[in-house]
Amino acid sequence: MAYNISDDCISCGACAAECPVSAISEGDGKYVIDADTCIDCGSCAGVCPVGAPQA
Ligand code: SF4
Ligand code: SF4
Repeated sequence: MAYNISDDCISCGACAAECPVSAISEGDGKYVIDADTCIDCGSCAGVCPVGAPQA
């Protein structure tokens, strides 16, 4: 299962900088995770200020 970013995202970009496989990119109004690339490490959830990345 890949992580998914909820609508709580404030597009700060912190998670994209932390992702070891560059699975996160800026989307329309929030950041998005490429489910096929995500390795489920949880780093994005660890740095997000609003808890938007969910397992
Ligand atoms: Fe990247 Fe890890 Fe977050 Fe998946 S769980 S998007 S691999 S930082
Ligand atoms: Fe959105 Fe959280 Fe990523 Fe910032 S760290 S872009 S608020 S999901």
